Amino acid sequence: MSVSPPLGILGGTFDPIHYGHLRMAEEAREALGLARVRLIPAGRPPHREQPATPAEMRLAMTRLAVEDCPHLEVDPAEVLADAPSYTVPTLERLRAELGPDQPLVLLLGMDAFRSLASWHRWQDLFSLAHIGVATRPGYTLAEQTLGDSLATELQSRNAARPGLLAATPAGRIASFAMTPLAISATAIRATLTHHGSPRFLLPDAVLDYIQDHHLYQT
Ligand code: ATP
Repeated sequence: MSVSPPLGILGGTFDPIHYGHLRMAEEAREALGLARVRLIPAGRPPHREQPATPAEMRLAMTRLAVEDCPHLEVDPAEVLADAPSYTVPTLERLRAELGPDQPLVLLLGMDAFRSLASWHRWQDLFSLAHIGVATRPGYTLAEQTLGDSLATELQSRNAARPGLLAATPAGRIASFAMTPLAISATAIRATLTHHGSPRFLLPDAVLDYIQDHHLYQT
């Protein structure tokens, strides 16, 4: 039987971090009974065009966003590593750091979960962590269209109660309903490029940093 409550893990490009990410961490924490959520900015995200914003600046914005949030912490390891940021090696590192018994819950938005079967060594994820998927209120994971291999994993791993995540270190898939927030970093960057205001879509401290460093202006 595990001793510590599950630790949530939220990876992302965070270019910039916004309230969609922060609400996802907060609502996951409450719904899945997580002790804390660790935000891990990607150094070199492997699945997308490389962000124009240097990794150190995305890390700095992530740190500013969670200042004064005792349940949220920031892990700089992917930014500091000079390698593509694949999730399985990151989870292996966390396992080595936290031990075999600590329940870990990798948090994903529905868009990220749907594409899971295209990830590097994706089936190894389940021996390292649980997966927590944010869905729209009123929807369950089972109602989503998923590819065959992911649907099969979901069938055998679906956790009927989020409380089950605390009972084992890894291997279950749980969903939680999240307040829909149509905020994206892409839209925030576009707003800034067009000299619009993204205020109230992201923390003021992050917006101040963006303005001080003239980010996203071209
Ligand atoms: P971009 O627009 O640059 O693609 P993004 O806003 O989607 O960025 P990412 O850093 O790519 O942010 O996302 C990291 C994680 O946060 C993913 O699991 C994604 O599904 C989730 N996420 C992003 N925005 C939201 C949101 N508004 N609500 C819930 N989850 C979100």
